[in-house]
Amino acid sequence: MSGLSNTAFVTRFAPSPTGLLHRGHAFSALTAFEAARAAGGRFILRIEDIDRTRCRPEYDAAILEDLAWLGLEWEAPVRRQSQHMADYGAALRELSERGLTYRCFRTRREVAEAIESAPHGTLEAFRGAPLPPAEEAARVEAGEAYAWRLSLAAAERALGGFGGLTFVEDGEGPDGEHGVIQARPQLGGDVVLARKEVGVAYHLAVVVDDALQGITEVIRGRDLFEATHVQRLLQALLALPTPAYRHHRLLAGPDGRRYAKRDRAQTLRELRASGMTARELREALGFG
Ligand code: GLU
Repeated sequence: MSGLSNTAFVTRFAPSPTGLLHRGHAFSALTAFEAARAAGGRFILRIEDIDRTRCRPEYDAAILEDLAWLGLEWEAPVRRQSQHMADYGAALRELSERGLTYRCFRTRREVAEAIESAPHGTLEAFRGAPLPPAEEAARVEAGEAYAWRLSLAAAERALGGFGGLTFVEDGEGPDGEHGVIQARPQLGGDVVLARKEVGVAYHLAVVVDDALQGITEVIRGRDLFEATHVQRLLQALLALPTPAYRHHRLLAGPDGRRYAKRDRAQTLRELRASGMTARELREALGFG
């Protein structure tokens, strides 16, 4: 976008290169891009490729090509999360030094079992605690894999409760949530901040990047509305600014189901190969 852009409005599209973009992604990218254009603001493309086991360079390249075909323009250079692990590591260290994290040695299955065995099924999400120091040290020494989790109990103590945590929803959550929303990080439990095999996890990377890139308005699908609760908490703990949020509806196909990676025929690649023009797709998505 031109040099006369308004830095009071900065938004982003942040796909993960784990597959080809489909109609749903096009809708999301266009929603953010057009919002930036309408506001005279900036539009940023961020590649969320921290999970090297699932992300592939060919999908990264395809994202750029498909978005350019769609007529989008974004600022250079594109930030790729895999190249900024030190930023996320610094944020994790800061939280850990303040006693807000703990090492969790449980496997996914053990975490699922812990949730299921909670009394009366009241525990919606995993809550744990650090191991006794001697046991922890022994397991680290033995080379056992662990993830770093955020301790909600410690975070609650540090902030004197979660009552002061709110965010502004300019779009709509899944239950019509709009306006000033009380953040309820309890919903997500003690989220993983750094995964065993990856080194950082989604919530931490996204919060650090939204701040570093000066994002003022996070525009993304409604399926990520719930993620906002814990992301708001991380912003508070790391003293980062809180953007406004605009969650948009999820595009559904003729069968009423939302588009997903399984809908091969709806990838931008396939649509283009079938002779559809970018203009036709934009119009079909309501961006005539
Ligand atoms: N990388 C995430 C995804 O592809 C989006 C993250 C976000 O917009 O906050 O679902």
